[in-house]
Amino acid sequence: METCEGNILIPSRVSFSSSSTERGMSAGESVSAKKGAKPTAEEALALLKAGNERFAQGKCVYPHLDAARLKQAGTESQADHAYATVLACSDSRVPVERVFDAGIMDVFVVRVAGNVCAADEIGSIEYGLAHVTTPVVVLLGHTQCGAVTAVTRACEGERRLLERNIAPLAASIEPAVRRVMAEHPDTHGDDLIGYGIEENVWQGIENLFMQSPVSRESVRAGKVKVVGAVYDVGTGVVRWLPELKTFDILRKVQANPGRATNTMAQ
Ligand SMILES: [Zn+2]
Repeated sequence: METCEGNILIPSRVSFSSSSTERGMSAGESVSAKKGAKPTAEEALALLKAGNERFAQGKCVYPHLDAARLKQAGTESQADHAYATVLACSDSRVPVERVFDAGIMDVFVVRVAGNVCAADEIGSIEYGLAHVTTPVVVLLGHTQCGAVTAVTRACEGERRLLERNIAPLAASIEPAVRRVMAEHPDTHGDDLIGYGIEENVWQGIENLFMQSPVSRESVRAGKVKVVGAVYDVGTGVVRWLPELKTFDILRKVQANPGRATNTMAQ
């Protein structure tokens, strides 16, 4: 579906030909204009990768930001357009749509400090999967993450009080940091933080699979890819983490009797 001009994939050339329905949306968001088949997971991931390459190389095409797109946004369902759900950190150095050279109705974005994947974030991702019907979910960490840095320093013994509502965020990150400390006993400081940032992404994917039957079912059915990635705030480059590890985590969760099994709220 994507058009290749030179090496550039241009999302505005995506053509849609059949319809999908965004379930549970308000009447104002009902579908009324030309609707289309969503890209496959593979195609959506290719759009993200191509968009990030343009961004990092200073070759952005700034798609889907014009008046025509706004008009579409006001009259059509995002479910017929958005091709990715992205969970990212709130950090001002990680402007998600810019990073992927994406525009309006392209990306369903969830942002929270430390890109932690807890109840509200998992609910938002489920909305992105089940109602916005995005074929790809990206859990995006980033270099120099302040949240992972603070938790790592605390775990290494630096005593510093946290504001009361930051503590639960830190608690969500701590298992990942503890794990890399155990795996790399001779690594400390900034090097350990680098490991922690990646492990925090994997922790997020595990949390998602543990609590979200619909995410597991979508991946197992081959309809959706869940992908980990780390954004470099100094270069603009997204480093894509091995997709096979997502399946390893899924297998581990499938064998865990503690995983949530009711797909729908009771
Ligand atoms: Zn961060």
